[in-house]
Amino acid sequence: MPERLPETLQQKLSDRLRYYDDIGIGGFYRDRGATLCLDAPVSTAAPEVMPIIEEPSLPKREPKSAQPVAASAASHKLEPVPAPSGPSLFEAAIRIENDTLPLIRENLGDCTRCKLHKTRKNIVFGDGNPKAQLVFVGEGPGADEDAQGLPFVGRAGKLLTQMIEAMGLQRKDVYICNVVKCRPPENRQPEKDEVMECSPFLLRQIDTIAPKVIVCLGSTAAQTVLQTNRGISHFRGEWLEFRGRKLMATYHPAYLLRNPSAKGEVWKDLQKVMAELGLAVKRKNS
Ligand code: SF4
Repeated sequence: MPERLPETLQQKLSDRLRYYDDIGIGGFYRDRGATLCLDAPVSTAAPEVMPIIEEPSLPKREPKSAQPVAASAASHKLEPVPAPSGPSLFEAAIRIENDTLPLIRENLGDCTRCKLHKTRKNIVFGDGNPKAQLVFVGEGPGADEDAQGLPFVGRAGKLLTQMIEAMGLQRKDVYICNVVKCRPPENRQPEKDEVMECSPFLLRQIDTIAPKVIVCLGSTAAQTVLQTNRGISHFRGEWLEFRGRKLMATYHPAYLLRNPSAKGEVWKDLQKVMAELGLAVKRKNS
């Protein structure tokens, strides 16, 4: 008599299936003869579930001609939007030989470089694989992140974890960090002076990890890293170039919590990232 899956695993599978459903993936197949129905008896081995990738039935994006940026699949550099005066936002970010994440963290210290230090509980430096091929960059820590000192651990973080797992990865495979390392009060957007003070550390993190792909989550991260004031809708989902690396901007998981219908768009972006990283995207009849 085959054993039933443990309840925790059933719940995990149920959550995962709900997430796939949310992002528009409706079909599944069994990879090794296991039964996917959670209510039915199954084999003792956990089924290896792979989504059948289908185009989510979501509203169409604007035609490419209406979008000023990135008209082809090739990498692009956005036209930088110069600061009104003074040095470039990242001028202070120099490449440091033999830089390491522990050294960057040590240099950050008990940072008081900007006013965000006054209200933070913890610096949220970043977390994950120091040699990750994929780095996610968010805007800044929220309340949960501030309390735990870890990035993306609240509701939006859970969704990001689901997105990463849907890509066939685990959180420990990627690196996750933010433009600013301290929580802006009331979860407001980081201000320019705060971004200027903190972003050199982000740049050093990216240079040190040397990922193949950077994914910016949300407008602030994308606009900061790309030094543009264009709205994310102009370049979301397109390959861009940043310091010699491929970069894609997509919606922030917090936005997806408010606008679940945009999950399909994000999933399409992540599929491009998967292809770039050589992660298997199994299709029907493959
Ligand atoms: S946000 Fe960055 S620059 Fe500002 S206090 Fe925190 S660590 Fe320092």
